[in-house]
Amino acid sequence: MDFSLSPDLQELQHRTRRFIRERIVPLESDPRQTAHGPTEDFRRELVALGREVGLLAPHASPEFGGLGLNNVGKAVVFEEAGYSLLGPVAMHIFAPDEGNIHLLEQVATPEQKERWLRPLASGAIRSCFCMTEPAPGAGSDPAALSTTAVQDGNHWIINGTKWFITGADGAGFAIIMAKGEDGAATMFLADMDQPGVEIVRTMHSMDQAFAGGHAVVRLNDLRVPASDILGEPGKGFRYAQVRLAPARLTHCMRWLGAARRAHDIAAGYAQQREVFGTRLVNHEGVGFMLADNEIDIRMSRLSIWHTAWVLDQGARGTTESSMAKVFCSEAIWRVVDRCVQVLGGQGVTGETLVERIFREVRAFRIYDGPSEVHRWSLAQRIARQGSNW
Ligand SMILES: Cc1cc2nc3c(=O)[nH]c(=O)nc-3n(C[C@H](O)[C@H](O)[C@H](O)COP(=O)(O)OP(=O)(O)OC[C@H]3O[C@@H](n4cnc5c(N)ncnc54)[C@H](O)[C@@H]3O)c2cc1C
Repeated sequence: MDFSLSPDLQELQHRTRRFIRERIVPLESDPRQTAHGPTEDFRRELVALGREVGLLAPHASPEFGGLGLNNVGKAVVFEEAGYSLLGPVAMHIFAPDEGNIHLLEQVATPEQKERWLRPLASGAIRSCFCMTEPAPGAGSDPAALSTTAVQDGNHWIINGTKWFITGADGAGFAIIMAKGEDGAATMFLADMDQPGVEIVRTMHSMDQAFAGGHAVVRLNDLRVPASDILGEPGKGFRYAQVRLAPARLTHCMRWLGAARRAHDIAAGYAQQREVFGTRLVNHEGVGFMLADNEIDIRMSRLSIWHTAWVLDQGARGTTESSMAKVFCSEAIWRVVDRCVQVLGGQGVTGETLVERIFREVRAFRIYDGPSEVHRWSLAQRIARQGSNW
């Protein structure tokens, strides 16, 4: 086992760290941050900064302007980007665009890549991924998909309602999951500014970092030509896995960076603040919380790096990414929650960034598969095959 990073990757890690601390952190108090993410002009300014330093969409292939990072490379660089909540926006590696870029690279036709992937990878536009539906539709259980796609000559007519759709408001196009008459799921590409796509409302949400927020989207007799099917008809669930296994891991990477930031703030406070005659950090109750933070941060990183390595070997990494997702989302939550506690009253106020990070990371235990669903699918495998160690 060799955990050392290549000189090139180390250089990229340091370059990203400098970029985030010197250029992005100072912008964190910019007022153009709304309850539903940065405004579009602020997002474009941030993306321009990422482009200027050659760090835009580093996971995209060089053909589409990126650095072609493999999963281990992403693990190192995305963690650095996540140190600021604006970092993933500036580097255009936030959800859902990052996962959509990956999926389009894997599955789209050359024509589809020119039309949708090229402007997306350059940061000129945003995109969204439309899978989840209000009950009784798809959520934890994607098989409950209720949005329909009915073939009409050389077109498909899509009807249904999606919700929690991150970035839908302001997105250039959507990847839509819908069920054909045979019950199989298909993915469709569709521009957002056309009849048949309606943004019903933007949902109020605890988190505020995602550009465009999370929307309810109604698809009303949306006509999509057969040429805009992504990949092959009926393979939607398989492609969802192509997207989700790496995408849930990249969430772990970015939120690990955010957890590190919260920990730095809390550790800094505990080193300075004196109570009962000594610095906070010297009180075992606080010192142990900070020690547990470092254990959770280290263990999260190891689980991310290992899963990234598994994916880089060409394996699907379903089990590893499920385990990493559960572990990291819960460990990161523990870290940030302890930081709130260490900071005392300030922890729940806007006096430090920790309160924002606390609100941002809560949903990570739910999206890309709630913890319970990952545990359930791991348990299902044990039920089928027994213990695997
Ligand atoms: C901030 C945010 C952003 C999102 N962005 C997108 C997006 O861009 N596109 C998109 O399509 N979707 C998106 N989602 C939706 C997300 O993927 C779903 O919320 C998630 O899959 C859970 O589905 P649900 O909300 O319908 O919960 P439900 O399916 O109703 O499940 C509710 C709860 O039941 C429990 N549960 C479910 N199954 C089991 C089981 N087998 N065993 C034990 N317990 C179980 C879990 O605790 C789960 O949280 C987003 C969600 C959030 C919160």
